[in-house]
Amino acid sequence: MRTVTVLQHIAIVGSGPAGLFTADALIRQRPELKIDVFERLPTPYGLARFGVAPDHQGTKAITRQFDRLFGNPNIRFLGDLAVGETLPLAVLRDYYDAVVLAVGAHQDRRLGIPGEALPGVYGSMAFVGWYNGHPDFTGLSPLLDMPGVAIVGQGNVAVDIARVLSKTPAEMATADLCAHAAGSIQAAAIRDIYLIGRRGPIEASFTSAELAELGKLERVRPVVNKADLPESLPETASGDLKIKERNLQLLHDYAARSDDKPIRLHFVFHSTPDAILGESRAEALQIRNAATPLPVGTVISAIGYGTAGFGDLPAPDAAGRLPNQDGQIAPGLYTAGWAKRGPSGTIPTNRSEAKSVADKLLADFANDAAPAKPGSAALDGWLNGKGLQAVDYAAWKRIEAAETAAARPGAPREKLAEWAALRKAAQL
Ligand code: NAP
Repeated sequence: MRTVTVLQHIAIVGSGPAGLFTADALIRQRPELKIDVFERLPTPYGLARFGVAPDHQGTKAITRQFDRLFGNPNIRFLGDLAVGETLPLAVLRDYYDAVVLAVGAHQDRRLGIPGEALPGVYGSMAFVGWYNGHPDFTGLSPLLDMPGVAIVGQGNVAVDIARVLSKTPAEMATADLCAHAAGSIQAAAIRDIYLIGRRGPIEASFTSAELAELGKLERVRPVVNKADLPESLPETASGDLKIKERNLQLLHDYAARSDDKPIRLHFVFHSTPDAILGESRAEALQIRNAATPLPVGTVISAIGYGTAGFGDLPAPDAAGRLPNQDGQIAPGLYTAGWAKRGPSGTIPTNRSEAKSVADKLLADFANDAAPAKPGSAALDGWLNGKGLQAVDYAAWKRIEAAETAAARPGAPREKLAEWAALRKAAQL
């Protein structure tokens, strides 16, 4: 007869959409499970707080659903605990029946060209983290003092950055753009933003709603060279052809514009950056085969992310995935989200994918025997023994209340962006 383990204790590492959709999928099927969600930062919601653009409040509304999840007494939040550092993964594997690593992709891919280390050159993880109040990047203080800014990459992150850099304060009134970034962007001297793609308009990976937004900004004129655009979608086009078709229409619309606005947003296709030039800071970007470099004082690479290795687990593959089979890394150890599939897809992509990881986990435990683990009580004892105290959900709510109280009129919050301020507001 098959031995069936009663699965009870699950640890999820990472409180972003991938981790919390996994918790949701598990608890819906097995309401008696006890799930502890671990987070390195004192605040939950990962990419929904630090990745989604501050003016996309509709997308951030998903956090209300996650809030309801933490209303379930069987799901705990344990923030300000770095699994793999302060808290070894081995401890979680000893104490919980299953561990799910939903740790995202936290490293900027590098361009790998000369000049990348110059002041004025930033990866999108750091740059977006800076304006979104990620405590690791608050001190970035990016140089935004020259009229030209290059954003390398033509995905939605590049589009987000272009929009955030060029919206007026009035257009940002209901956003949760951090005050330090808002001040710096308002004071910036930006006149020309170059959105640089190494391939053509059909291959660009931004989606149509995001591209359309760029055409509606008060002080931005999108600049597109009609000669770069085919009249219609070529036979060879691949991917979501509806999006490609709509993108092409929008780009034709932009190419036909001739209005004058304070900021020009240049779509630069078929252009591979070869070097960032400058003596002691970025001053220009050399594009392969171009006669003259683009005069830019800021270069932001938005070319995707990678996953750092996790302890002694096998290194991530070239696409940034922790090696896994349908979400399983090893018996009792799983992964979800960008750490599982690489850095692509929107927040809803994680919902369906998390459900499939949860289904696999539950099926594995229905089929295999494993010794029962002690769960949260043992973990709490371990934390006590080390003198560690997690930011629990009530403490996060105190942080949130402080942020709401500090919000300027019309804005949802003023994020606390320093480690010390976050910990102080948690009142532990
Ligand atoms: P992405 O969509 O993969 O775009 C990356 C861009 O960087 C592509 O244009 C890519 O060009 C380019 N690139 C990569 N390596 C390069 C190199 N060495 N030199 C020059 N260009 C290079 O990634 P992302 O913009 O970081 O977005 C990540 C995911 O989050 C995407 O699925 C995106 O849709 C999603 N997201 C969604 C939203 C939204 O829904 N509003 C907002 C932000 C992000 P190639 O195609 O030639 O490789």
